[in-house]
Parts: sequence; C-alpha cells; structure tokens
Amino acid sequence: MKNSTQKQPRSLVHFKNICQEAGVKCTQQRMKIYSELIQNPNHPDAETVYKKVKKQLANISLDTVYRTLWLFKDMRLITTIGPSRERTRFDPNLNPHHHFICTKCGLILDFNSEQMDTLDIQESLKAIGTVGSLQVQGICRGCEINDKIISD
Ligand SMILES: [Zn+2]
Ligand SMILES: [Zn+2]
Repeated sequence: MKNSTQKQPRSLVHFKNICQEAGVKCTQQRMKIYSELIQNPNHPDAETVYKKVKKQLANISLDTVYRTLWLFKDMRLITTIGPSRERTRFDPNLNPHHHFICTKCGLILDFNSEQMDTLDIQESLKAIGTVGSLQVQGICRGCEINDKIISD
C-alpha cells in the first residue's frame, strides 16, 4: 500500500485523457456523471448519482447511469466499495486510502492513516487473503449529534 507516490488526479481534464486513451466518447452525460462523483465525498451509489445528474440532464435514465458507472470501472477511472452489486458505491479516489463507514446513515468517507498503511498484519488474517485498504465502521459525527438532540 505504500508504493504510490504519484497522486491520481480527479479532474475533468484527467477524465478526458482517460476517455481518449480508452477510445471512449467523452459525452456530456459521462462528464456530468464523473463530475458528480468527484464532487461527492460520500462515495455515492448509482441511484444517488442519478438523482443529482437528472437535475441537469432531465432525459437521463437510471439504467444509463448504471451502465456508465460500470464502464468507468472497466476503464479504471473509479473503483467500487463492497461486494453487493445492487447498492454498490463508487469511488473516484484511486490513491491508496481507507474508508470510514457509518453504520447508521451509510456515510462513507476517505481517510489516510500512516499507522494503518503500515499495520502489522497477523498470520491468521494473511491466511484469509491479502489486505488492501481498510474499512472501519462506526457512528459518524452527524449521527452522533442527531442522537444527542433526540435523547436530550
Ligand atoms: Zn452517520
Ligand atoms: Zn474512497
């Protein structure tokens, strides 16, 4: 995990370059979907992207958004989080990083941790597989504050 010194850019310029390299047309729809991803730090799922993009492109369908996101994944523009294809969350951050997942509201945020990058992986875990990024679960600050207001 400690090898990538070169940061992967997340910008529309980068997007256009990758499209060109892949021979994929850089349509307005695709650009809007990608820019929604890079503007949303919460690793949105397809439906969330769809709802946002629809405000600007009224004719877009959820199916198109799905297909586009999986196309981006094939193009290695983004990665996905979680094994479920149904509520898959999409991530435009290709730099090594970890995720904080709120078990209450589903928020997923990136974080970097040198400590976790250099974690001493125990043998029993190595036997299961190679560890990439880590996902920690907890309750986010927003939910904590809400809980407090309700219980007060
Ligand atoms: Zn939360
Ligand atoms: Zn991420």
